Amino acid sequence: MQLIYEQSVPGRRGVRLPASDVPPAPELPPSLLRGEPAALPEVSELDMVRHFTNLSRRNFSVDTTFYPLGSCTMKYNAKVLENAANLFAPLHPMTALLPGGEACCQGALGMLYDLGQLLADVTGMDEVTTQPLAGAHGEMTGMLLIAAYHRARGNRKRYVVVPDSSHGTNPASAAMVGYEIITVPTAPYGDMAMELFRQAMNDEVAAVMMTCPNTLGLFNPHIREIADIAHSHDALMYYDGANLNAIMGKVRPGDVGFDVIHVNLHKTFGTPHGGGGPGAGPVGVKKGLSPYLPMPRIVHDETSGFLTLELDNPASIGRTANFFGNFSVMAKAYAYLIMLGREGLIQVSEQAVLNANYIKERLKPWYELPFDLTCMHECVFSASRQLAHGVHAIDIAKFLIDRGYHPPTVYFPLIVKEAIMIEPTETESKATLDAFIETMIEAAQLAERDPAAFAAMPVTMPVTRLDETRAAREQQVCCSG
Ligand SMILES: *Cc1c(COP(=O)(O)O)cnc(C)c1O
Repeated sequence: MQLIYEQSVPGRRGVRLPASDVPPAPELPPSLLRGEPAALPEVSELDMVRHFTNLSRRNFSVDTTFYPLGSCTMKYNAKVLENAANLFAPLHPMTALLPGGEACCQGALGMLYDLGQLLADVTGMDEVTTQPLAGAHGEMTGMLLIAAYHRARGNRKRYVVVPDSSHGTNPASAAMVGYEIITVPTAPYGDMAMELFRQAMNDEVAAVMMTCPNTLGLFNPHIREIADIAHSHDALMYYDGANLNAIMGKVRPGDVGFDVIHVNLHKTFGTPHGGGGPGAGPVGVKKGLSPYLPMPRIVHDETSGFLTLELDNPASIGRTANFFGNFSVMAKAYAYLIMLGREGLIQVSEQAVLNANYIKERLKPWYELPFDLTCMHECVFSASRQLAHGVHAIDIAKFLIDRGYHPPTVYFPLIVKEAIMIEPTETESKATLDAFIETMIEAAQLAERDPAAFAAMPVTMPVTRLDETRAAREQQVCCSG
């Protein structure tokens, strides 16, 4: 495939713009003026459309292939949800903030408010802010709320306790808010080691931050006890609910002792992510933390039903995003919740957990399962048996690429050697799961029979084994050949 620049022919045009009828711009300082025309490729519209369409076909996406990337919940996002976002397209984001503007957008404010109420209902919290733009942003917002809570009570707090099975963003977010991290290791049965947890707790702990289910795909059965211990030290309980896919309608974090939660609309609530769109990480809190929520906060007048914006609360941690966050994401998530209803959400969770356990049971004879328990929405294997033949988790990932699958997450969680983390999601059929399982079994058989065969994989891709860190920092989205 040629670079778009290599297709350039002098004088060839895609579009011809009409002459400008705008008065000339004010004089710019000569140092800001371009000396030569920009070196843009000169191509026709068709050249360009084909070029970018063909490039896009070299990508994996949920719309093209099974995409079992663990921890990321790459579920299918129904196209009808895009319509919900389009409904609001004519509305300018400034509308609500202009004098009298609230009256002009009660529908949009109502959607945000109702979404907050629905998420509060799903999570067992009292109030939700929809502002944060991503999961990690939600974590940081939650930690700022916890810090504001302790400050207002005159508590001297220094630490946040994090199990080592939590998502890596958890300690990072707590550290960004100024806390020191105390890490608690995982016990042989896959949960946080309780005795070590008790030893870690003291009155300077601000919060216990837990990813649930943890990154091993397991739900901690000692939550109530952990929450009681935390609260006895006036520490708050933070729930990383980025993947709520396993528990909707089954357990509400607010009912079992958690005080703060973030959820990822772009993982659980039907909105695209990765290359497909921006995210949103709403944060839910118990009543005691409501005063610190970000502004503007949407306030509902019970008598008139009118929604107004609270813009002047000195206790608030302030803004965490422009306007109301990623509004279009919220419109899609709102439509998702309305469309599924309570029964639908329960079905989502049950199907997601069933699919993950089905894969776990069928692949168990072939791949090492470090924690052999009923899993939640994802399961974590280790390629340690394959490693005995010299085949690594990354080799199995490359094998899957050649077979037309986006690979599962590999080398995460860090606490499992040669980790292969598979999250099938509820939107896949049994036929798809069976085909994937057969392919994984073929990989295991090939590792025993001909381990050297993996070295050349992938053979179907224009680029093969990238230095992924460098590739992310020095992007070259076009490639010759
Ligand atoms: C994805 C994820 C996050 C981070 O979410 P982003 O939207 O990528 O910032 C945090 N915690 C867990 C458990 C996750 O899976």
